Amino acid sequence: MIPALMPTYNRADLAFERGEGAWLYTADGRRFLDFGAGIATSSLGHNNKHLADAIAEQAHKVMHVSNLYRVPGAERLAQRLVDATFADSVFFCNSGAEANEGMVKMMRKAMYETGKPERYRMICFEGAFHGRTLAMLAATGNAKYLKGFGPQVDGFDHVPFNNLNAVRDAIGPQTAGIIIEPVQGEGGIRPAQLQFLRDLRSTCDEFGLLLGLDEIQCGMGRTGKLFAYEWAGIEPDVLTAAKGIAGGFPMGAILAKEAVAKHLVPGTHGTTFGGNPLACAAANAVLDVILAPGFLAEVDRKSRRLWQELGQVVRDEPTVFEEVRGAGLILGLKCLVPNGEVQEAFIAEGMLSVAAGDNVLRLVPPLVITDGDIDAAVAMIRRGAARCRPSGAKVAAK
Ligand SMILES: *Cc1c(COP(=O)(O)O)cnc(C)c1O
Repeated sequence: MIPALMPTYNRADLAFERGEGAWLYTADGRRFLDFGAGIATSSLGHNNKHLADAIAEQAHKVMHVSNLYRVPGAERLAQRLVDATFADSVFFCNSGAEANEGMVKMMRKAMYETGKPERYRMICFEGAFHGRTLAMLAATGNAKYLKGFGPQVDGFDHVPFNNLNAVRDAIGPQTAGIIIEPVQGEGGIRPAQLQFLRDLRSTCDEFGLLLGLDEIQCGMGRTGKLFAYEWAGIEPDVLTAAKGIAGGFPMGAILAKEAVAKHLVPGTHGTTFGGNPLACAAANAVLDVILAPGFLAEVDRKSRRLWQELGQVVRDEPTVFEEVRGAGLILGLKCLVPNGEVQEAFIAEGMLSVAAGDNVLRLVPPLVITDGDIDAAVAMIRRGAARCRPSGAKVAAK
């Protein structure tokens, strides 16, 4: 008989009762170092006092009023994001897929309202992940996810990642824009070359296209900058954020330049829950932490340390790992044995990670990890890797 909870996921047989920082505890007293952070979402770790207090305080005042009224917390949150980024205006919603849907609508509407209604198609990339709604399945373009769900939503063309010639070849009279993850997450932690991002910007300018960034996984401080595009020194026209934006409270956001945002006039787009007082209290508390002086520099420093340590592990375990890749605290271990086996071995050692495409294991810890957490993780990764050596394989000679 089907379980009451719809069996849509392959869940590990672990149930956590509480957490503290980067650690999660099961009811039977086992603890796990959380290098998955609920899929790059629990950015402040677990039981962060500032975040939990902000949510509790707001819950006791008012949680939800709808967007029929002003929401001061949303106005403040939007202003802070505008002040810290390329954006002139922000729309709040409830998830990553919903943010991406809104981004595509905004990009199409901007074309329509500026006399180019035929331009509705988006160039997307192989290995992308943009969400599970019908249109975002098409934007993702993964045949495995699309199968069985009826005709594919029209308007998304896919080209190889990091290949400018392929992008330029794919531009046609119906192209409205380009949508890319600066670091592909689900696809296997594949970073876009910074020069590629710059080339996409200039290509969009050359052809009058819009550049949309999906920073749902790599944004909100994860790469050591508030958003990953900053590393390339470019500005997008539109950007989506979600996952870490409210530290585990469900929220998504679309950040946009005025030229794009101004076309979503009242009545053209909306959401019941989006940007409600409770979600905005959570996101404002997250921003308090990640915009505090020195915080992102600390993320950068810790991530470089972790990167170095992982590089050494990869060299020491050449039969288990091929490479470490990614940026900041969105790192991937490309495995030579099945990534699921490595993930199991890490769990046996007391550490959580997240599988990704291309046989990669994702390490996306809370941004607040300590140096002690990194030491603990590296030790568990070493012991876990040793469990995964193909029989007969020896550790690399030092
Ligand atoms: C997780 C993710 C999404 C989808 O977000 P949901 O909140 O699950 O809808 C979209 N794009 C990227 C890059 C993601 O990592």
